[in-house]
Amino acid sequence: MADGADGGPGAGAAGGWVPVRPQEGVMWCDERFNFQATFLQCLAKHVPNIYSAEMDPLLEKQEEMVQAVILCPLECYLFGEDPDIFLEKLQQSGTSQLCGKVFKGGETTYSCRDCAVDPTCVLCMDCFQNSIHKNHRYKMHSSTGGGFCDCGDAEAWKAGPVCTKHDPGASGSAKENSECQLNEEIMERSRRVFPSVIKYIVDMLIWEEEKELPPELTISREKVDSYYCVLFNDEHHSYDHVIYSLQRALGCELSEAQLHTTAIDKEGRRAVKAGHYASCQEAKEDIKRHSENVSQRPLHVEVLHADVMAHQKFALRLGSWLNKLMSYSSDFRQIFCQICLKEEAGSEKPCFISKLMLWDAKLHKGARKVLHELIFSSFFMEMEYKKLFAVEFVKYYKVLQNEYINDDHDRVLSVTALSVQMFTVPTLARHLIAEQNVITTITETLLEVLPEYLDKNDKFNFQGYSQDKLNRVYAVIYDLRYVLVSKPTLWTDRLRQRFLEGFVSFLRILTCMQGMEEIKRQIGQHIEVDPDWEAAIAIQMQLKNILLMFQEWCACDEELLLKAYRECHKAVMKCTMNGRSREKTVFHLCGHTLESRPYRVSADPVSIHLPLSRTLAGLHVRLSQTGAISRLHEFVSPVAAEMWRRNGLSLISQVFYYQDVKCREEMYDKDIIMLQIGASLMDPNQFLLLILQRYELADAFKKMKPTKDQDLIKQCNVLIEEMLQILIYVVGERYVPGVSNVTKQDVIMREIIHLLCIEPMAHSAITKSLPENENNETGLENVIDKVATFKKPGVSGHGVYELKDECLKEFNMFFYHYTKTQHSKAEHTQKKRRKQENRDEALPPPPPPDFSPTFSNVVRILNCDVMMHILRTILQRAVELETHLWTEAMIQMVLHLLSLGLLEEKQQLLKSPEEEVTFDFYHKATRMGSSALNAVNVLMLLEKLKSVPQLETQKDTVNWILQMFDTVKRLREKSSLTTVAAISGSEASKGDETQSTQDKEKAERKRKAEAARLHRQKIMAQMSALQRNFIETHKLLYENTLEAQGKEDSVMEEESMSSAIDYSKIALGPKRGPSVAEKEVLTCILCQEEQEVKLESTAMVLSACVQKSTALTQNRNRVLELSGDTLDPLFMHPDLPCGTHTGSCGHVMHAACWQKYFEAMQLNFRQRLHVEQIFDLENGEYLCPLCKSLCNTVIPIVPLQAQKINSEDAEAIAQILSLARWLEIIIVRISGYSVKNVKGEKQNLPAFANKGMGNSALEFHSILSFGVQSSPKYSSSIKEMLILFATTIYRVGLKVAPNEADYRIPMMTWSTCAFTIQCIENLLETEGKPLFGSLQNRQHSGLKALVQFAAAQRTTSPQVLIQKHLIRLLGVLLPNFKVEDTPSLLEVDMFHILMGVVLSFPSLYWEDAVDLQPSSISSAYNHLYLFHLTTLAHITQIVISSATESPTTRSSDNSEEARSAQSFCREVCQYTSGCFSQDIPGWLVWDCVKKGIMPYLRCAALFFHYLLGISPPEELLQVSEEGQFKALCSYLSLPTNLFLLFQEYWDTVNPLLQRWCADPVVLSCLKGKSIAVKYPRKRNSLIKLPEDYSCLLNQASQFRCPRSDDDEQKHPVLCLFCGAMLCSQNTCCQELVNGEELGACTSHALQCGAGVCMFLKIRECKVVLIEGKTRGCLYPAPYLDEYGETDPGLKRGNPLHLCQERYRKLHLLWQQHCIIEEIARSQETNQIIFGFNWQLL
Ligand SMILES: [Zn+2]
Ligand SMILES: [Zn+2]
Ligand SMILES: [Zn+2]
Ligand SMILES: [Zn+2]
Ligand SMILES: [Zn+2]
Ligand SMILES: [Zn+2]
Ligand SMILES: [Zn+2]
Repeated sequence: MADGADGGPGAGAAGGWVPVRPQEGVMWCDERFNFQATFLQCLAKHVPNIYSAEMDPLLEKQEEMVQAVILCPLECYLFGEDPDIFLEKLQQSGTSQLCGKVFKGGETTYSCRDCAVDPTCVLCMDCFQNSIHKNHRYKMHSSTGGGFCDCGDAEAWKAGPVCTKHDPGASGSAKENSECQLNEEIMERSRRVFPSVIKYIVDMLIWEEEKELPPELTISREKVDSYYCVLFNDEHHSYDHVIYSLQRALGCELSEAQLHTTAIDKEGRRAVKAGHYASCQEAKEDIKRHSENVSQRPLHVEVLHADVMAHQKFALRLGSWLNKLMSYSSDFRQIFCQICLKEEAGSEKPCFISKLMLWDAKLHKGARKVLHELIFSSFFMEMEYKKLFAVEFVKYYKVLQNEYINDDHDRVLSVTALSVQMFTVPTLARHLIAEQNVITTITETLLEVLPEYLDKNDKFNFQGYSQDKLNRVYAVIYDLRYVLVSKPTLWTDRLRQRFLEGFVSFLRILTCMQGMEEIKRQIGQHIEVDPDWEAAIAIQMQLKNILLMFQEWCACDEELLLKAYRECHKAVMKCTMNGRSREKTVFHLCGHTLESRPYRVSADPVSIHLPLSRTLAGLHVRLSQTGAISRLHEFVSPVAAEMWRRNGLSLISQVFYYQDVKCREEMYDKDIIMLQIGASLMDPNQFLLLILQRYELADAFKKMKPTKDQDLIKQCNVLIEEMLQILIYVVGERYVPGVSNVTKQDVIMREIIHLLCIEPMAHSAITKSLPENENNETGLENVIDKVATFKKPGVSGHGVYELKDECLKEFNMFFYHYTKTQHSKAEHTQKKRRKQENRDEALPPPPPPDFSPTFSNVVRILNCDVMMHILRTILQRAVELETHLWTEAMIQMVLHLLSLGLLEEKQQLLKSPEEEVTFDFYHKATRMGSSALNAVNVLMLLEKLKSVPQLETQKDTVNWILQMFDTVKRLREKSSLTTVAAISGSEASKGDETQSTQDKEKAERKRKAEAARLHRQKIMAQMSALQRNFIETHKLLYENTLEAQGKEDSVMEEESMSSAIDYSKIALGPKRGPSVAEKEVLTCILCQEEQEVKLESTAMVLSACVQKSTALTQNRNRVLELSGDTLDPLFMHPDLPCGTHTGSCGHVMHAACWQKYFEAMQLNFRQRLHVEQIFDLENGEYLCPLCKSLCNTVIPIVPLQAQKINSEDAEAIAQILSLARWLEIIIVRISGYSVKNVKGEKQNLPAFANKGMGNSALEFHSILSFGVQSSPKYSSSIKEMLILFATTIYRVGLKVAPNEADYRIPMMTWSTCAFTIQCIENLLETEGKPLFGSLQNRQHSGLKALVQFAAAQRTTSPQVLIQKHLIRLLGVLLPNFKVEDTPSLLEVDMFHILMGVVLSFPSLYWEDAVDLQPSSISSAYNHLYLFHLTTLAHITQIVISSATESPTTRSSDNSEEARSAQSFCREVCQYTSGCFSQDIPGWLVWDCVKKGIMPYLRCAALFFHYLLGISPPEELLQVSEEGQFKALCSYLSLPTNLFLLFQEYWDTVNPLLQRWCADPVVLSCLKGKSIAVKYPRKRNSLIKLPEDYSCLLNQASQFRCPRSDDDEQKHPVLCLFCGAMLCSQNTCCQELVNGEELGACTSHALQCGAGVCMFLKIRECKVVLIEGKTRGCLYPAPYLDEYGETDPGLKRGNPLHLCQERYRKLHLLWQQHCIIEEIARSQETNQIIFGFNWQLL
């Protein structure tokens, strides 16, 4: 670079201000040199020139000039030597111990759940991979951008704060690092240079004059009238709005407007017009006007002088220059920070960095980015300066937040987003609290921004709030959370004082929330969730963790806790005083009196927002926990009585969120605690009276009110139920540390147990149902294994946790976090389970833990008079059958309360001596009263309850309670026999009574259970019979492989029984076995009528889908022709690059029924335009009417013509018809045609024909002499379908317009038949299934129909055409034909040739007048010889292309095969003039041939089987390699030593072999000049994926878009077929295909998968299937976390691992050609995807 500066264009011009040569720099005497003036002079001179062409900048040129004229000289001066050399020196040593990498949006970040101090502590991919956390419980997430890697920050990590890369102690070079400091001279110059540079940047960025520059930058030259009209970015206007406005205002092209808009979105501003001031001003007004028209608000436009624009641009360039410089040395950073923080002496003006911060919201996007990066690379890399920066930040916090709230850019682009980087550092947070009072600052900021939502009572009201603005307020709330995230371990007085100040300030916010948004309760109604009302809940959610953290901070320190409690109490009391008051009333019940101001839940409005009271409750519990409560004397019952005055409990059933897991800890749970506090502090009877009064139930329990009003009664019943439920919770719910002596773990365990009592659940479902703490942890992992066992998932679905049996006893039906539905579901599940175990159905509560001393008084509620009265009254009503006054739910709750009372007494009795236990529930419940109302005691009522028919289901529970009564009685008696002796007699006898009735009941129950079991059995039997019938009648619905196999088996059995002769299992030649052609009767799925398949009847068809496929390709790099207009598909390349696959779902219809269906659908969908996209009717697509598979055609079902050979005739013919003679005959026939056919070109065959291989007496008609028969006569309907299907294959396979007369139709027919068979063979092999008998029904019937169709199709084409194709095909085998353009042996797929020649051969029998075809015997020979010929050619192919590797092992195999192979090779060697090496041992050649030929033989066997219907040998129904080979050979009439074929036909084959080998292509391949496909061909599979998902993320992070180098967010996508990584959903990688813009994936799919492809979106962890340009769907990725769940979007962030089974399922989806089907199905069920533009993927 130094050179460039020397000779560069600008160097001369720069002369005079800074010395260019380093040596000179040393000579310059610093004092004399005024850097600032010279620097500015230089800028004034050059900057406007460099950035003159703003409209159409040459970016590279600009950069070059900036370097040469300004930056390079500046660096030379600064470093005092060549900058390149200097910086290299620095770079080697200058790495910081902090990583400091700033994340871009979408980048993956890692956090460690074991070691991160809080979840905002993250690592970049590199640091993570090199850290110890790789093996911990980590989480992965996508960054929203703007974050920063915390590697090296000791405060962020409990362990392993540094990765090996950033660890200074890890590498030797690091030591030098600290020593290598900048020398004094450089530092001195830095101190001189930086201020000027920084000042310039600041001045220019905050420059507001449109027309003028600061005087020091204005040079004397004439000011030119050159301006720009500059458009700024905002979040209010959409892309389209901006484009529209620009087009209108500037009259520019769409493309130009798009260009501008993209740039504005990226950079934040852009000059859209250049010119004189007036014209720019005009453009500005135009843009504003047009934009205002579309969206009310005008766009932000400014007119700037060209020089201003240029200097502002350069200021940013200088900013990034500094940014880079910062990374080189800590000294630079420190000097920079010092200068930025320096305040002018005596001036009130903020320092440089604060100026910029304050200006942030006014800057455009590009400038903000540079500024923030600069802060990251300087201040945040030096702890000391980070602190100083934080202090400045807090100083201006209020202003900054206010600016942000009124700004319209995303938060990532605001300087306020940096707060998380400072506030989450524990020491920094503490410093800011103690010294800068940050908590108060934040809460005051909140109080300043929230007032706009305050109503006249100073309560919040969010009517008509703006969601965006509120979201911005949340950012402030979040800051509060960051500051509080780590609790201090050491408290100083100052910290304590400041914290308390902050807390008090925070209480002011809560005061505004206390009682806000009151609602009137509507019994039996659900409150509509209106959006305004949701805002309050959202704030509550935001505050939840902050409230918790405040309480926890308070609890750290006893002194603090007490002070905070007092403050909080004061605040609550202040609010309560303001509450409305009523007349005092007096209320008596059971001799107790309550005097109060009544409050009625049904009429008075209530609020669910009571954060102050709840905070007080929270502090109370903590006081109880620490025992400090004893020091609290002043507050007692008045609080207790009032604090839950208007609490929201009465809204439980109406407000979902109140009880939801996201809020409940600081709402619902705290309300229960409030009640418990009240209950513990008040007299129990008073407490209950108060409750009764709140629920307006005072009268309901006083006397029977004979009201007739059904509604009132119903309403009263609802209230009673709710009240009882609350009482159960108050007494029973004790799982809160402080309320009882439980740990947090116990609490979580109980939550999980109750969740799993409902049903087994996935990990994610449990997590979602548990409250998260401030670190987003639920504590689930620590306890889950204690209570549940994990059950692994299958190929779909997810793993679930099941509750351990021993935890079932913990089940509490009235668990307070159950919703109504959960409650009944859990009850149902548990009862069912007990029933299955043949146990009673009683579900009593589990014994609760003891209350802590503070709360111990709560239990007194259970045995107080009012409670007894309530219980008795309800039971009495039930017993007296006052049906309308009680409900079963009520009884259930009364029973639950009874159980709780008895359990309490029992537990107390077990713990202490009887006389000390004052809890006398038993006594109260069994005591007789004197008044009429309580003449019967509870125990007696229970006995009676058993006979109430409506309460049959509660019987078991009642029995359980009776037993408990007994137990408690015994416990009382045991310790004090004497006292109870008096009454024990009667009690005991009663006890016996119960016992005997219980026995009786047990027996009865047993009998009933048995009866029920028998009944169930009967039903089951009926059901399965029904099921069988259903299967019978809907056989086709069941694609049961087993069944298909069974069918084949039975056929096989019949076969072997009828004829035990072996040759029945031979498909070819004179020994050919009989075809098994069953009569086929099929049912049309549309009209349900049956029909036999016959040649002459109307056609039945099979729904089918034809698609192009690259599933078998051997070479994915081959470029596919997108349109087949000029393609000749007769020969398939051995690479099998792209074939046409025909699949079927196996469903049969009448052709006529199908046509009607299709037409109806067409009509239907034309009327409903929007659904059109599911399938393309134009291209014949439709959904199978039965299974909804996507289809685009139908295959006509052509019956197999059974043929039998007379074996004697066959033997006779065998004597005459040798291969040689057969060949002679067909050659004569063919040449005869060419003689006859004037139009056909003269064929050149004499060389072969004249070789004198027999008598020339042969004539044109000889071929007919071995037997002919007339061609089958197909019904016109079948013919029509033959043509229709053939045309579809042609149209789809070649992507051309349909044309029934095209000459390529027969070729495509053979080709799809061959390709489909090859696909099926491939699939069977990779799945390890036997060749026959294991196909799915749909595959079986599809293949059968396809092969029969292919044979019949010939009859619908002109025979001359077929003959022409046949001759070309034979040309490959018989090179003497010398047909033009015949490919060599190595350029064709032999199975495709076989298919073509066999299917077209009958055309040779065609005579002008009569339509003939070979007889059975003739075709037996034709098949045999055609097959042998192709086999010979294929063997030669294999030997030439594949037997090339030298042996790695020696083998002494000297088998007959090996010897034959050896001699064959000798011949080949000879014919290739030695190009083929003879050295390869015979056994190896044989081995190659045997392996290589296998797929071909298997395909041939499948083909002939489906063509002729001859049963295959049993060996092919099993998987066995050796057996298979022999069986195939026998079925196909081949010798097992394949080389014997050559020997047998040597005279005929020898000349063929000679010609095959002599082909130039073959020779060039043998010489190694080209590469031929090796056999067996490789079986394709999806690419190998790494086991650990983070490896993929790693790969993705290194991905660079091949087309652009900007740092924008990319969506790397992996092609699962070929492994290519693509840049998806981005304009940079779109491609123009046939005039259409296609996204990277869509255009890749066209080549890689012939339009159908499978991708993995790496950052989202989702699989995408696409087809063509318009269709696609998402599919779960094959990666699972340890809980067997997928994680689309990496939302949960758990480590993910590859699931092989799921990946295999994807593989099968591909290889079975079901991707299209899957897409169609998913689009059917999931219509949302329509909005997505797949084309641009
Ligand atoms: Zn890092
Ligand atoms: Zn690191
Ligand atoms: Zn860790
Ligand atoms: Zn039909
Ligand atoms: Zn179907
Ligand atoms: Zn690909
Ligand atoms: Zn790209």
